[in-house]
Amino acid sequence: MKGTYFITLLAVAVLGLGHLNAYADTDNLFSQVTRQAARAALKEQNNYRQILLNRFLRYTTYDSQSSEKEQITAVQIETAKKLFDEIQSFGLNVTLTPHYYIYVEIPSNVKEDVPTLGFSSHYDVTPDNPASGIKARKIENYDGKPIVLENGQVIDPAKENGAYLSTQIGKTIVTSDGTTILSADDKAGVSIMMTMLQTLAQNPNRKHGKIQVVFAPNEDVGRAAEFIEETPYNPDIAFDFDGGVDGEVVIGNFNAEQVIITVQGHPGHQSHAAENGYLNAWFPACVLGARLCPEETEGVVLPLPNHSTGKQGYAELHHIDYPDNTPSVAKLDFRLRGFVQADLDAWKDQMYAAIPEIENNYGVTISVEVRRNYGNVGEAIHPEAMKITRRAFAKADVTPNFKEERAGTTASMFLIKMGKGAFTIFTGQNNPHAFTEWLSEEDMYKSYLISLNLIDEVAALKQNR
Ligand SMILES: [Zn+2]
Repeated sequence: MKGTYFITLLAVAVLGLGHLNAYADTDNLFSQVTRQAARAALKEQNNYRQILLNRFLRYTTYDSQSSEKEQITAVQIETAKKLFDEIQSFGLNVTLTPHYYIYVEIPSNVKEDVPTLGFSSHYDVTPDNPASGIKARKIENYDGKPIVLENGQVIDPAKENGAYLSTQIGKTIVTSDGTTILSADDKAGVSIMMTMLQTLAQNPNRKHGKIQVVFAPNEDVGRAAEFIEETPYNPDIAFDFDGGVDGEVVIGNFNAEQVIITVQGHPGHQSHAAENGYLNAWFPACVLGARLCPEETEGVVLPLPNHSTGKQGYAELHHIDYPDNTPSVAKLDFRLRGFVQADLDAWKDQMYAAIPEIENNYGVTISVEVRRNYGNVGEAIHPEAMKITRRAFAKADVTPNFKEERAGTTASMFLIKMGKGAFTIFTGQNNPHAFTEWLSEEDMYKSYLISLNLIDEVAALKQNR
């Protein structure tokens, strides 16, 4: 695999690449350059397409599972070092941080003051299923039939896990051999980012503003943002490359907070409560819980169960604990979710207002801890992000499929640290974390084209600070 890669690289180098804008604007191309140059540009595009696929196949052989139990796994460190070396070989300015974030910065080569553009992806893969010794299967000219994998699992275009396959007849797809996942989540994103970096390095005449790229570890164990501050990553406009297929763009998601309310009673023996001051914290905790998530059932007020859907948010009393195995302390663990941060804040105002009354009525002491888990990227996005996304997609002939998630994204965790949101762009990955995971090569390539188009679009923007 490595051999093929270097031969392809050499072929690209020998061709002597010029400006790689051509695919972006076909009309312009034919009016400005000769047919011969157009043919060269097309050949150049196809070369990068081949490089991208070969790179993806090579990365599937890099083990990089993250783990809930370890700060960083040895296989992630190994993979991070390989990616770091590869970026260095492009001649770019790259840093590997103490907690294995890979950070690349490319200075602007335009005179105008344009916004800094950021791209992210994650190089770890999920610990949920086997992902060591992956043997990717490239299927060219896919025939539309169900794909039977080694462990008996089937990716069937007639079923939900293969529905998108029915659009891939005649195209190239990649699966695992069925004994592991494929790891397209997010090796597809990493391959796109690496090929975009290689393209910029080999085409220095291509115009762009300042570009920041980060490759994060530990995303699949929910810790992608944990040490992001070790890098200077803080772009004005950002995109995360870790989405699905068919033009999917995640433009919004839940704001998420965890609110832990500790109700402190008094220890003692309940049979002598009047003398020893014994106060069980359980009852006042239940009253507060029912006050903050009320639902009346046959005259009894209970905490409201969460049945929200669509754009509805919720406050859920997730559980109540006696943390020290004593009834004198009760902890209420609330989970707040909503597309509008102001809704979460209004709920907290209500909570702070209710607390003194419970303290007075029951003689307990109450403390509150709020943890912000992630934020809605749509509420903290650059004002031009939607416009340039639409343009970048149109130039790659892709119809955007905008989505909002009732969950978090990597970008939504970065937002907590940086205060800025990012859209998540499709990368060609299907059925992530499953043995039936598969990649659409065409979608991965389109995503690569979109990354370059986004660079063009931002380079044309006037900075508006
Ligand atoms: Zn992912």
